[in-house]
Amino acid sequence: MRHLALTGGIGSGKSTVAQFFAEQGATIIDADAISRSLMEPGQRVLADVVTEFGEHLLDDSGVLDRQALANIVFNDVAARERLNDIVHPAVRTESKRQREEAVAADPENAIIIQDIPLLVETGQANAYDGVIVVDTDHATRLQRLVETRGMEPDDANARIAAQATDAQRHAIADWIIHNSGSLEDTRTQVEAVWTQLTTN
Ligand code: ATP
Repeated sequence: MRHLALTGGIGSGKSTVAQFFAEQGATIIDADAISRSLMEPGQRVLADVVTEFGEHLLDDSGVLDRQALANIVFNDVAARERLNDIVHPAVRTESKRQREEAVAADPENAIIIQDIPLLVETGQANAYDGVIVVDTDHATRLQRLVETRGMEPDDANARIAAQATDAQRHAIADWIIHNSGSLEDTRTQVEAVWTQLTTN
């Protein structure tokens, strides 16, 4: 079993690269995706969030208004901590369950890749057997964030600038996937890393 971290700046292509590793046979654990799934109607975490922050966060069909929740916690550190205290332990429990399921299915050879956008910022790189960094040049990230996410260029630039630098990410990388080119080019690099991972 190997437990790797996958990181990269906003819009670098982490989800895209994770998908290519999944196609090779890796188990991808994505805390953001888990946290979204735990906020779906009927989930205990959602019920706890509503108890803490109010029924007005739900629409008529019981779906969470994410923007309303984001507005509450955006400028309120104490509220953000209360939200994290509800969501983070549940995300950790579900991540652990997914890891254990992958290991149980293939104890020797399971390759688990944890998608962690802020790996440098949170200083957790050493907790993993290896780190894969997705590296994409600034202009390309900006263009993709604007074109595919509809972000304002100033907003996209500010988010890029608020994160760790490319040099900081390179410093913790065991493998670097360059994703400024075509999807095919990236897929080829993922296949090469996968071959290394599965042959030694
Ligand atoms: P975030 O940090 O916001 O979660 P991310 O790092 O997971 O983003 P992706 O969502 O994988 O990034 O990619 C950002 C956008 O760029 C997506 O719309 C994706 O389809 C597109 N994209 C990623 N890689 C490529 C590529 N090599 N060529 C063209 N488009 C790409």
